[in-house]
Amino acid sequence: MARNTLARIDPDAVAHNLEIVRRHAPDSRVMAVVKADAYGHRLDLVLPALREADMLAVATIDEARAIRRLGNRQAVLLLEGVLDPSDLAIVESLGLELTLHHPDQVAMVERYGRTPAPRLWLKVDSGMHRLGVEPHRAAELHERLRALPGAPQVNLVSHFASAEDADDGLVQRQIARFDKAVQGLDGEHCLANSAAILNHPAARRDWVRAGILLYGISPLVGRTGAELGLEPAMTLEAELMAVNRVPAGDSIGYGARFTAERELRVGVVSIGYGDGYPRSVVDGTPVRVGDCVCRVVGRVSMDMVTIDLAGCPEACTGESVVLWGRGLPVETVAECADTIPYELVCRLTRRVRYRALRSRAAAEDGAAIRPISLVR
Ligand SMILES: *Cc1c(COP(=O)(O)O)cnc(C)c1O
Repeated sequence: MARNTLARIDPDAVAHNLEIVRRHAPDSRVMAVVKADAYGHRLDLVLPALREADMLAVATIDEARAIRRLGNRQAVLLLEGVLDPSDLAIVESLGLELTLHHPDQVAMVERYGRTPAPRLWLKVDSGMHRLGVEPHRAAELHERLRALPGAPQVNLVSHFASAEDADDGLVQRQIARFDKAVQGLDGEHCLANSAAILNHPAARRDWVRAGILLYGISPLVGRTGAELGLEPAMTLEAELMAVNRVPAGDSIGYGARFTAERELRVGVVSIGYGDGYPRSVVDGTPVRVGDCVCRVVGRVSMDMVTIDLAGCPEACTGESVVLWGRGLPVETVAECADTIPYELVCRLTRRVRYRALRSRAAAEDGAAIRPISLVR
């Protein structure tokens, strides 16, 4: 039998989370960010749940191409724009919208001779100092873009460095700097990522860019998605491959990091860092076995994790184990791994199989009973 290490993806959760985003930003249109293969949830499984999004956004041309290959014709923004002039023809043929974050990109589009996209998004660096044009150049570059053939619509974008901090002065300064830079320019505004959607009402403009919230995950440290009314879109599961006895005083796993103080029943779970489960998790990191919460003991290895089955006497070989998702917030696991949940969901490897839960709407229809898609 195939190794049962799988990510269950719940499209209904994604659709629900989009509704929650709309509740937070009722006057904004929502750009659904699906870069990095929908934050590791897989584009093909997630896009059907985002048909109601006002547009999609990705980081790279390859990601946009993947969307088109799935037959999806929704508007797509290329958040990073393009590096090479030859990419403009691809942008045009895929029908993408384009971010311009550097004067060189504006010059590149001018040389192209046509307007490559129906709508352009000029990105202003309001203080994060990653991508974006300097505020004092915004008006001039905006005017040059408006002067392109067909006088395209040119929207105005910026990005926050620390929106997860509710009373962070930098966000207010970034908003003020942006507003000053774009004063008097026509075009719609788009500032807020997930954290700003929750924390900073002044950043909810014509558009918001929602990423992590759509997957049911909290962008705010110390809060879980469930506390925000979100539903996890991914549940990562593996199974118990073996249940063993470890005598008191013996150690478990590589480097003998963990020593059993008393005799333990130890479960060996079919997932490791080779699947994307983080090697950096500490002893005591929770996993779920049925209704019990068990704890990681010993180092994560490439293919396996060892857990203490105390409190779960019924558990036996073949039993399903949840690493994160329903009943176990990925935010908690991320904390135990000293990282952010974004990284955990994005870095599952090709060894993990994906399954979409059947959509409730489809099940109720009766008409569209889809087979469970089993890919990879
Ligand atoms: C990834 C990204 C987002 C989405 O961020 P979340 O925190 O996941 O909502 C928004 N804007 C830009 C420019 C991004 O790169």
